[in-house]
Amino acid sequence: MSVVRLAVLLALTLGAATVADPLRVHRDAVVVDLHVDTLLDLAAGKRTLDGGGGHVDIPRLRQGGVDVQVFAAYIDPGQAPRGKERASELITAFHRAMDRHADAIASARTVEEIAAAGRAGKIAAVLSVENLGDALQGEIEQVDRLYREGVRLASLTWNPANLLADGARETRHGGLSPLGRRVVARMQERGMIVDVSHLSAAAFWDVLAATRGPIVATHSDAAAVQPHRRNLTDDQLRALAARGGVVGINFYPDFLGAPTLERVVAHVDHMVAVMGADYVALGTDFDGIEKVPQGLEDVSKLPNLTRALLARGYPPEQVRKILGENALRVFRHVWGR
Ligand SMILES: [Zn+2]
Repeated sequence: MSVVRLAVLLALTLGAATVADPLRVHRDAVVVDLHVDTLLDLAAGKRTLDGGGGHVDIPRLRQGGVDVQVFAAYIDPGQAPRGKERASELITAFHRAMDRHADAIASARTVEEIAAAGRAGKIAAVLSVENLGDALQGEIEQVDRLYREGVRLASLTWNPANLLADGARETRHGGLSPLGRRVVARMQERGMIVDVSHLSAAAFWDVLAATRGPIVATHSDAAAVQPHRRNLTDDQLRALAARGGVVGINFYPDFLGAPTLERVVAHVDHMVAVMGADYVALGTDFDGIEKVPQGLEDVSKLPNLTRALLARGYPPEQVRKILGENALRVFRHVWGR
């Protein structure tokens, strides 16, 4: 081989080495999705995690390279009068699914359990509650019960007000109630992550004032890119970043502003510009949204996002942070080991 040909070959090899292979970056990354509503279908007996519809099941979690999936027990406000019972139904559905698919997925209540699931080649499943206020029915002790049953993260409200706070669609725009203050204090004592997605702006700021350490918005987008009550202003984004929290990008087209992968990237771009890459995460909202972006039709398509972020010029280490390392940092901080 001539010296010239050798030089060309070396240049090609080195050049190839500096261009990250999206599938490899995605496979090597710890991928964490902070919010899906799959438990609703499981509890209703509509399907199992083997598949049969929706956006999330074990085959598609595997294809999507998901290592940690947070499953929300969402209490519909219409169920508020029997909220405790409804929470139990959804939590039972979660644990049944873990038993049924024990070869493929495992409930994780600690960072060590997440790591153990990974070592065993399993997906780690974290249990959350969405609309904690209605799950408690006014009883603060229910926070302890939910914690014992595995809940490690919870949003205080859905869109309307409940006993804890006002939600994003509540027209009186109120904040955190006295009970809400006691509940977030109890959550912090326990090590249950406080999720501000769905809160009114007033309640958001009340929660920030009433808590210490990282707070998350599991499934919200940037209001500067798409004005929407469910999205966060730049001031809110900066406040979450200052606390070391994360914001999970939501894939719902109405929050994004358009049903495209490019629009998801636009929200990532904005959040990274405002907060830095250490505070952006994923909270797809799959199985809770009736419309999906093109290219991100279900959880199996997540590698497309990695490809798009790399193509956009994000270095692989930043992409890995957004895919999951940032969320894991918060888990570690709030839960301990
Ligand atoms: Zn939601």
